[in-house]
Amino acid sequence: MIEDKNSARTPLSELGEFGLIDHLTKNFEIKQPTTDVGIGDDAAILDFGDQKCVISTDLLIEGVHFDLSYVPLKHLGYKSVMVNLSDIYAMNATASQITVSIAVSNRFPLEALEELYAGIQTAANLYNVDVIGGDTTSSTSGLIISITALGYAKQEEITYRSGAKNNDLLVVSGDLGAAYMGLQVLEREKQVFNVNPNAQPDLDQYTYLIERQLKPEARKDIPELLKALEVQPTSMIDISDGLSSETIHLCTKSEVGVHLYEEKIPLDPAVISICEEFNLNSTTVALNGGEDYELLFTIKQEDYPKIKANPNLTVIGHMTDKNDGMGLVTRANEKIEIQAQGWNPIKKEG
Ligand code: ADP
Ligand code: MG
Repeated sequence: MIEDKNSARTPLSELGEFGLIDHLTKNFEIKQPTTDVGIGDDAAILDFGDQKCVISTDLLIEGVHFDLSYVPLKHLGYKSVMVNLSDIYAMNATASQITVSIAVSNRFPLEALEELYAGIQTAANLYNVDVIGGDTTSSTSGLIISITALGYAKQEEITYRSGAKNNDLLVVSGDLGAAYMGLQVLEREKQVFNVNPNAQPDLDQYTYLIERQLKPEARKDIPELLKALEVQPTSMIDISDGLSSETIHLCTKSEVGVHLYEEKIPLDPAVISICEEFNLNSTTVALNGGEDYELLFTIKQEDYPKIKANPNLTVIGHMTDKNDGMGLVTRANEKIEIQAQGWNPIKKEG
């Protein structure tokens, strides 16, 4: 009989905690010059020289932040890393290390964790970050993943949410709304599957949307691009909860208002057509969808010529006086107040 590798189920108890950590991390190599000591001692040692160290952490809980019935573990590992690196890039910094902590119930065999770590390793290699430690423990219900990302930047390059000024241009990378619509497609297929487990979904036309949901890419390229163009953004944030709520964060922290133009919001054609299919307004989806992991930032007007030809960047508005409020200028040239619906699942419970 040919053994199906995917059906092998090695209980974690066969390895013990230390055997498991060793097994999962033995292939991680140290590549970053800022990593002095990685996995293996009580703590890692980093040396950032004269740069500032930037740190961000995230916690992902099964059933709240991800659903393993349609998220493959490898993708989950990859995405967990992206979510964190995105926060480092949003500071206009270079990501260099991550730590990975997991809590697993005995429902998960070794092979499941190998898949998770394969995704983590792929992400770490592609984004050139070292895995320098973590923690491993058991959980009574499901899987919990916490990743901490570290990075570095010169003091003068670090970009905060609070630096936007009146008249600065508001710029976004990539396009918006696709990850949210990918989730809608996956949820719909899950319902279909629950009714008829033999149904073979044809998801080809939704590839871009599903990829944006399951395998997002953090915008490592944007801080690099801005440096190359000699543009120092005045404020920046990554789009995890949706364009509205991130725009509001920038305005509130910077004490400015905004005019955001509906017609400028970048949408992929796949988002426009799926919104028609689901009978949703694509602007609403782009504003509130979330999980795009694009970067939203402001630049000085005088820097506009440096970025205007770049297909990765779209100017979607400009900052105004705080007293003007935060407005979306619609295609019909009406100004409506931007509201944060957000997407963060925690808000649903509150
Ligand atoms: P301690 O008992 O001091 O917490 P551990 O046995 O948990 O030490 O960890 C031993 C080493 O393995 C440390 O370097 C730790 O950072 C690393 N480590 C533990 N769990 C993980 C994990 N899930 N992924 C990556 N590294 C890990
Ligand atoms: Mg430990």
